Amino acid sequence: MAEIVLKNMYKRFDDFTAVKDLNLTIEDKEFLVLLGPSGCGKTTTLRCISGLELPSEGHILLGGEEVTNRRASQRDIAFVFQLYALYPHMTVFENIAFPLRTQKVSKKRIQKEVMQAAELLRIKHILNKKPKALSGGDQQRIALGRALVRRPKAFLLDEPIGTLDAAFREEMRTELKKLHVDIGATTVYVTHDQMEAMSMGDRIAVMNQAELQQVGEPHDVYANPKNLFVAQFIGSPGMNFLECKAAKDTKGDIALQMTSDGTVISVPKDIQNVLNSRKGGSGELILGVRPEDVLFSIQKKENHISTEVYAIEKMGSYNIVDVNYGTELLRVRTLPGIKVDYGTTVYATFDMERIRLFDKKSEENLIQTVGRSG
Ligand code: ATP
Repeated sequence: MAEIVLKNMYKRFDDFTAVKDLNLTIEDKEFLVLLGPSGCGKTTTLRCISGLELPSEGHILLGGEEVTNRRASQRDIAFVFQLYALYPHMTVFENIAFPLRTQKVSKKRIQKEVMQAAELLRIKHILNKKPKALSGGDQQRIALGRALVRRPKAFLLDEPIGTLDAAFREEMRTELKKLHVDIGATTVYVTHDQMEAMSMGDRIAVMNQAELQQVGEPHDVYANPKNLFVAQFIGSPGMNFLECKAAKDTKGDIALQMTSDGTVISVPKDIQNVLNSRKGGSGELILGVRPEDVLFSIQKKENHISTEVYAIEKMGSYNIVDVNYGTELLRVRTLPGIKVDYGTTVYATFDMERIRLFDKKSEENLIQTVGRSG
């Protein structure tokens, strides 16, 4: 049982707070991805879990046991860095065997453990080679092998495939996930790449400026971002944001008036309830809509906005069409069969079951997720 619990954890460097009041439970056997922009505190969090840093405040529990003030060597955790520090003068076998040799494990067991790890990582054929003759992917596999033979309670991986080229990265992503399924160890994986996070994590923990923003399954974080930061950080291309405010539609129901051109868009009952419950029904709002939830039309109908085609990116199985809407830009994902021309007017509407609404000031998502599609 290797559940990792972080309770009210802070890490300060002098008067700079790198991690602020972090509460996070990584369940036994879970693959949790820590995601966020550069400098948000991901590596510091991982270093605190590993024992390479001690938290300034708060608690860390590993498998139910308090390890907050234990050094790395006293925690049963393996840390794999982006820059795999392999010993160049040793063979692959010796590199993988190294942690076991330092623990004075018998030769027979070393042989067995290294062969098992090499089998799992598919590197048996290179065990006699020196690391520098190998590709970045193989070098990373060796670093993983060295972590595996220790049979740790948990794995911490800090951008382990960040330096590999795109094709290798994809291959390693799949391999790492498969490895996780095979060995079933609790894993915390750091990346700033949201696509990597979405494709690998059982859950994603999104951080920004030292603070945890949201934790959830990839699909849920994508569909129901807690705030503007998460909404813009997850998804590629990102969510569109359009300024608006509450107003009455032609039926007299509360609706959204777009700042760009004054169009009033009627909204479903649950959003009406949200708008009505806001004090005075006022305040500046931001409508969030994913590129795949914008729908084009050749006719202007109710709830449609007028836009002008600015750019078309052909991606193969789909197109991304950029349209100007007043002073704002909207990115729309369409099927390649949908023909639009540069500079022409197209009308667009939104899948109202999937729009999100943010308070411009607090940046919080105002729409409750219950009963809404994602
Ligand atoms: P990256 O993806 O760029 O590695 P990160 O999210 O992992 O970013 P951290 O490395 O955890 O970010 O750093 C968080 C902040 O803490 C940064 O502003 C960094 O400069 C600062 N920091 C980290 N380690 C130290 C240290 N030992 N002394 C002072 N400041 C530090």
